[in-house]
Amino acid sequence: MSEKELRTGVVHLVGAGPGDPGLITLRGVEALRSADVVVYDYLANPALLHEARPDAELVYVGKRGGTHVLEQPEINDLLVRKARAGKTVVRLKGGDPFVFGRGGEEALHLKEQGVPFEVVPGVTAGVAAPAYAGIPVTHRGYTSSLGMLTGHEDPTKPESALDWAKIATSMGTLVFYMGVKNLPKVVQKLIEHGRPKDTPVAVIEWGTMTRQKTVTGTLEDIVDRSKGIAPPAITIVGEVVALREQLNWFETRPLFGKRVVVTRSREQAGELSTMLMALGAEVMELPAIRLIDPDDFGPLDRAIEQVASFDWVIFASVNGVRRFFARALRLGKDIRDLQGPRICAIGPATGAAVEAYHVRVACRPERYVAESVVEAFRAMGDAAGKRILIPRTDVGRRVLIEELEKLGAEVTEVTAYRTVPESLSEEGERDLLDQPPDFITFASSSTVRYFAECVGKEGLSRLTQHGEIVSIGPITSQTVRELGLSVGAEAEESTLPSLVSAVVQLASGEDA
Ligand code: SAH
Repeated sequence: MSEKELRTGVVHLVGAGPGDPGLITLRGVEALRSADVVVYDYLANPALLHEARPDAELVYVGKRGGTHVLEQPEINDLLVRKARAGKTVVRLKGGDPFVFGRGGEEALHLKEQGVPFEVVPGVTAGVAAPAYAGIPVTHRGYTSSLGMLTGHEDPTKPESALDWAKIATSMGTLVFYMGVKNLPKVVQKLIEHGRPKDTPVAVIEWGTMTRQKTVTGTLEDIVDRSKGIAPPAITIVGEVVALREQLNWFETRPLFGKRVVVTRSREQAGELSTMLMALGAEVMELPAIRLIDPDDFGPLDRAIEQVASFDWVIFASVNGVRRFFARALRLGKDIRDLQGPRICAIGPATGAAVEAYHVRVACRPERYVAESVVEAFRAMGDAAGKRILIPRTDVGRRVLIEELEKLGAEVTEVTAYRTVPESLSEEGERDLLDQPPDFITFASSSTVRYFAECVGKEGLSRLTQHGEIVSIGPITSQTVRELGLSVGAEAEESTLPSLVSAVVQLASGEDA
């Protein structure tokens, strides 16, 4: 091998799948994780870029309609240049790279230039969007053939490469990519060449995404019915469309089409967002809160140094747990130094966070309110004369400490982290105004206060004219009410799954 070849990197032409980020292949994710450079398109879901290394170079070359950020020859050159510089390049393309994706052209160019390449096929929109609309592209007894076509070409132009006479009747299911603009002409050609007027048709916009929109009709009326549809959309023609009546699973999920705001911090939003999206919600993450280090680590550090002298450590949140253990490790300590105190964790998620460090939890009050913790200690009869450490945020409520002191405990409270308001990005603000949410979720009192600060009280009341507030528990609800707003629903248990159930119940019209 010559030296030049040795230095040459490689280009992976990767199919990103149709939109839902879960629909990329394992191999595609592997390639993304190893990439030095990711060159991506408009139709590749940007959420997938989180898989790339933080130091990877991300280059957007998208095209949307006619406007290109980079023209095709420039994209080809870019891939060659980066690979020649020894980089591992991922060319991330919507759907499958070789299905109407110009992946073939890019591969040919790489071949010509002697740059090694690999292809990672993807789930193509023409199959996936119908699947998410409840339409199998083939089905026994309905159709035994499937054609994938471009609707991009004007079929009335004499130079059209498509033979409409054959297409119209020789194939069962027809799937058109890029066909929104030319739909009237496509429909006209199909009817003209003998496809019955009452053939079922569906047009699916942003398939597999939470904003998926489907309209159905027949060749005769689909043009009128699909007036509100914009690209990207797939048009599917054939008897299989009728199966949607029974198989429409995606658009019927409990939160489908609902816009839900998640106000948790960036680090924490993911879990809640994932649960909501699994039920079909379109999630807007607008973090109102940011976690930062305490002003002064002194008290926390001293507590960690003397941790063996405490009888109990009470953790009130997952963050408290993580920050405490991380700091201990930095001070040269680990769980072996935690002999002595028993651990109390409030709420199931906090308990799980403690156990993640292979530390046993001795007491688990179910609810996040102080009363529940005090009750647990009273029941155990294990507070009088005991030394209790509570690592927590700086805005924790005093009640818990006061009540434990009343039971005769000696309570040391230390700040393990602080929360500060996160300002809304311009983009977030625009999103909020353009598409008002159906539900705004709050998982803590401080996020309520910070969010109100962020959008202003007026902004919040405007938002709640359209959307409803869902709170994680009584204390959070109280903070909402103090702002003069009403709570649409409150979680029964102060947990995220319970918060999600409250949203679902509210969405289905029952009161939580
Ligand atoms: N390589 C891609 C297709 C690129 S051509 C693939 O295999 O899916 C672009 C066209 O794909 C769009 O005009 C639209 O017709 C279709 N398309 C891509 N993503 C889509 C989506 N999420 N929903 C509906 N159509 C989509």
